[in-house]
Amino acid sequence: MIYLDYQATTPLAPEAREAMMPWLTGPEAMGFANPHSPHRAGRAAAAAVEVAREQVAALFPSGGRVIFTGSATEAINLAIFGRKYRQLAVSTIEHAAVLDAARAYDAQVHWLETDNNGIVADAPIPPGTNLVAVMQVNNEIGTIQPVAELACSAHAAGALFLCDAVQGAGKLAPPDGADMIALSAHKLYGPKGIGALWLRDGVELTPLLHGGGQEQGLRSGTLSPALCAGFGAAAALAKVRMAEDAAHVATLWLRAREILSGWTLNGDAERRWHGNLNVCKDGLDVARLMSDLRDLAFSAGSACASGSGRPSHVLRAIGLSDRQAKSSVRIGFGRYTTLGDVEDACARINAAAAAQGV
Ligand code: PLP
Repeated sequence: MIYLDYQATTPLAPEAREAMMPWLTGPEAMGFANPHSPHRAGRAAAAAVEVAREQVAALFPSGGRVIFTGSATEAINLAIFGRKYRQLAVSTIEHAAVLDAARAYDAQVHWLETDNNGIVADAPIPPGTNLVAVMQVNNEIGTIQPVAELACSAHAAGALFLCDAVQGAGKLAPPDGADMIALSAHKLYGPKGIGALWLRDGVELTPLLHGGGQEQGLRSGTLSPALCAGFGAAAALAKVRMAEDAAHVATLWLRAREILSGWTLNGDAERRWHGNLNVCKDGLDVARLMSDLRDLAFSAGSACASGSGRPSHVLRAIGLSDRQAKSSVRIGFGRYTTLGDVEDACARINAAAAAQGV
C-alpha cells in the first residue's frame, strides 16, 4: 500500500512516538499519572505537558499562549463560540469545521470569495464584522492564502482574525497577524486526538466546556500527557525540518506533475503547499479509479466530504463544474513519501484512467 493521503492525516513520526512512551507506562513507572494531581508523579506529568506547550508555542510568534484541545475542530469551535460576534466574514473554501461552526453561530455571515486559482481575494471587510476566518492552506487543493493581508483588513474593520492553520502549521511560517490560530497534531506527524488554539495575548474567550478548569479555565478535562508530549515533539521536529520537508515535497510534486502531465491542476501552481496535488481528468469515474487502485491510499477530495456523493465545495468555488469536481483526485505526500512511491503511484493512476478511455 502506498500512502498518498497526507492532508487527511500524517504518519506518526518515530520521534513523537518515542516522546509519548514514558507517559503510557504503568503501574510502577507512574507515567500514567494525572497531570493535574499535586503529587510528585502528577507534577512530572504536568512538567511534560508544559514542555510540550512551549514546543507547540515555538511554532508561533511570541506574545501568545497555547490552549490544548481534543482536535482542531474543537479549537475552531472554541474560537468561534467563545466570544460574542454580531457579524462574521468567512471564506467559502474553509474546512467544514469553520463553515459549519459559522453557520451554526447566531450571527450574519458574509462570505469571502476565492478566485479560480483558489486564492481568497483580499476584498473589503464589511463594516460591523467582528470576526474574519480564513485558513492558511486549503486542505483540498493546497493553496496558500494571503493571510497577512486578510488579517490587516480584518483589523482595519475592527475584527479579530481566526486562522485555521491545520494544513500549514509546522510546514510554513506562522500566519502573520492572526489573533487566533487552530492546529492539529495529526497533520504534523503527531498523534490523533489532540489539537490546540493559539491565542494572541489579550484575546479573551469564554469556555465551552465546564468542569475542572484546566487549560487556564478555557478547556476543562484531564489532559493526556502522552498526546501532549507527542504533539510537542512533532512540533519541535517540524520546526527544525521545515525547509527540508518543503524541499522534499516540492521535488515529489514536480515529478508527479511530469507523470500526470495530461491532467489539469486544480488550484494555483506556485502559491501552494507542494505536498498537495489535486488534479482533474474530465469524465473520469473517480469511484471506479479508486476501486481499481485499492492499494493506493489517495482521496477523491477532502476526507470529510468524500463518501457524501456531493461535489467538493472547494472545487465548485474555484469554478469547476459538478462533473469536473467529481472527476478530480487529491494526491497528498509528505516527509516519508519516496520518489519511487510517487512514480509508481502516478504511473498506475495514469494507466487506470487510460483504461477508462479518458
Ligand atoms: N481544518 C482543516 C483545514 C483540516 O484539514 C482539518 C482536518 O481534516 C480540520 C480543520 C479538522 O482537524 P481535526 O481533525 O483536528 O479536528
